[in-house]
Amino acid sequence: MTQEFHKKAIQHPIFKLIGDTSKELGVESYVIGGFVRDYFLKRGTPKDIDVVAIGSGIELAKKVASKLKGKPQVSIFKNFGTAMIKHQDLELEFVGARKESYHRDSRKPVVEDGSLEDDQNRRDFTINAMALALNPENFGLLLDPFDGLDDLDKKRIKTPLEPNITYSDDPLRMMRAIRFATQLDFTIEPKSLTAIAENKERIKIISKERIVDELHKILLSKKPSIGFKLMHQTGLLPLILPELHALQGIEEIEGQRHKDNFWHTLEVVDNISENTDDVWLRWAALLHDIGKAPTKRFHKKIGWTFHAHEFVGSKMVFKLFKRLRMPLNDKMKFVQKMVLMSSRPIILSEDHVTDSAVRRLVFDAGENVDDLMTLCEADITTKNPKKQKKYKNNFQIVRQKIKEVEERDHIRNFQPPVSGEEIMKAFNLRPSKEIGIIKEAIKEAILEGEIPNEHDEAYQFMLEKGKKMNLKPESNK
Ligand code: ATP
Ligand code: MG
Repeated sequence: MTQEFHKKAIQHPIFKLIGDTSKELGVESYVIGGFVRDYFLKRGTPKDIDVVAIGSGIELAKKVASKLKGKPQVSIFKNFGTAMIKHQDLELEFVGARKESYHRDSRKPVVEDGSLEDDQNRRDFTINAMALALNPENFGLLLDPFDGLDDLDKKRIKTPLEPNITYSDDPLRMMRAIRFATQLDFTIEPKSLTAIAENKERIKIISKERIVDELHKILLSKKPSIGFKLMHQTGLLPLILPELHALQGIEEIEGQRHKDNFWHTLEVVDNISENTDDVWLRWAALLHDIGKAPTKRFHKKIGWTFHAHEFVGSKMVFKLFKRLRMPLNDKMKFVQKMVLMSSRPIILSEDHVTDSAVRRLVFDAGENVDDLMTLCEADITTKNPKKQKKYKNNFQIVRQKIKEVEERDHIRNFQPPVSGEEIMKAFNLRPSKEIGIIKEAIKEAILEGEIPNEHDEAYQFMLEKGKKMNLKPESNK
């Protein structure tokens, strides 16, 4: 192998400092993994730097920290044999080179000290196993035993060892392979894909949190469908997201077919990814149709229906988040709300768009109305250019109307313009159901456009409403 030096990758003074310190301690050190990969991919200079020492990573980290300005703290993770330093905007992780062997029922390996080669063998992919030497005598030398550079060039995900061993040892690597393929738009080599399919059941030993981390990264990629297709192809999908898997397939009865909602969903996710980086809105796109599998029915007269799938789907969101140990907080509620409301603007846009329907939409969606529109626009996947144009155009009209209605009535964070106390005072009432009835009538009148969302008009309306209810106004003051 010809010797290649890449000093440019490690111009930052920290690398020379680490190399010189290694020499003093009589160890070798290398920067390895994601940093080296991303340098060659020209993905910018990563802030995560993994350093492997042939010897104690912890000792090296301590000595390096003692030489840095401000003497940053060294966080030591004894169990893992690693140490971390935060320096400027960098996160430096030090580890001693190691050799790993695995037991079948755990992804926790038996670890021994090892050589650089041992350490590279335990890496997940050839493109993640490249190292650059830091010691002064070979500063910048590339150590790339599995020709990761060639795989970067050919856009290939390959394991350093036999893929069956790599994936079985640590099944998280299956998700990592799919995630890198999605993020980088690389292909997973066929041998590896087969091995993932064969080892898929072993994903069960991986914690939900780690799986979700990878799902987030897949969803945040430019084209998330790549990852979900690979999960589908390898059989991981039903093990991780059975709700999505269940959307797959087209049924035909009496010549009537419905669309394949899995492939449709993937298009929606790719579409929305062009318009938002909000991972939760992307989750909403992924899950917006999950209620369609359990609600699917065939009726002789009307064909396929998915009655109340939005409601059922929003309930499923909770169960899915819970199963995957995702946060059951306002993010989850946001996804539920998006799923629940996902058909509302569509119904609106199919018809003549009335102001009152728009006001109701804004009232129900509140501050999430723009996100809801973004979701619905992404949901247009028709291949018929005429329909495509018509729907898009209608959504433009809806958006415009939302703006107009907003300027006039400020419905988004609706606060009743007349308070309960005012109503009580006006009719000399104690707290009672009449107050609720009047408040509801005011809200309805505003949403219907009978009165603007303003105090004086609403107050007048209240007086009239009370009259109709045979309430006596408090003698005029
Ligand atoms: P990113 O930071 O973009 O997620 P990365 O490749 O830097 O990508 P990290 O999780 O930060 O990923 O891991 C750093 C390096 O550690 C990887 O490049 C790889 O060499 C190695 N690595 C991480 N996880 C595994 C694993 N499960 N099995 C084998 N090697 C791994
Ligand atoms: Mg990293």
